[in-house]
Amino acid sequence: MRLLLVEDDALLGDGLRAGLALDGYSVDWVRDGEAARLALFAEGYDACVLDLGLPRRDGLAVLKELRARDNHTPVLILTARDTLEDKVAGLDAGADDYLLKPVELAELRARLRALLRRAAGAASPLLQHRTLSLDPASKQVTLSGRVVPLSGREYALLHDLLSHKNRIRSRQELETGLYAWGEEVESNTVEVYIHRLRRKLGADMIRTVRGLGYVLGDAS
Ligand code: CA
Repeated sequence: MRLLLVEDDALLGDGLRAGLALDGYSVDWVRDGEAARLALFAEGYDACVLDLGLPRRDGLAVLKELRARDNHTPVLILTARDTLEDKVAGLDAGADDYLLKPVELAELRARLRALLRRAAGAASPLLQHRTLSLDPASKQVTLSGRVVPLSGREYALLHDLLSHKNRIRSRQELETGLYAWGEEVESNTVEVYIHRLRRKLGADMIRTVRGLGYVLGDAS
């Protein structure tokens, strides 16, 4: 899952990026409103954590423009402005959730999980397909009730496929979910991890759709 973190405070931004990366998200961090809007319009993010008080362009203005352009990326706003008016303004502008500063990392993580779950349209916190089950809270994957140990990137890839169940994911989409900006992407990385997942989950769990990508589930 790919997150955009928009926070101009260097210390807080660095802490949040590190904390969220531990959860298996691939996190891009930008520090002003202009960089945020460029990133949001250029890249496909699964969610955005958006500070409101930002240099160059206010977070609320970024959010309003995003929604005006019909972009539905889930957005969680961070605000130090603890007034009813500001919360209402944020939600009216199209935020999906908000968190007051100082930010508790555990709460941010839980709220992001809920946000991504809602975005995926799933009522259950578990992502499931047949006897395969993934719990985003504990990061545990089971197959027919048995725990399947996965590496961080295997988990990230499986999470991506299960979150887009029955939909074909291109290699590039899967790749961008695996890596943050600036990290080296080897050309066969996705294939390598798909291969490892098939060894652990069974050869038929993830199907190759020739020329298009991969699918977990029933898309043809
Ligand atoms: Ca700020």
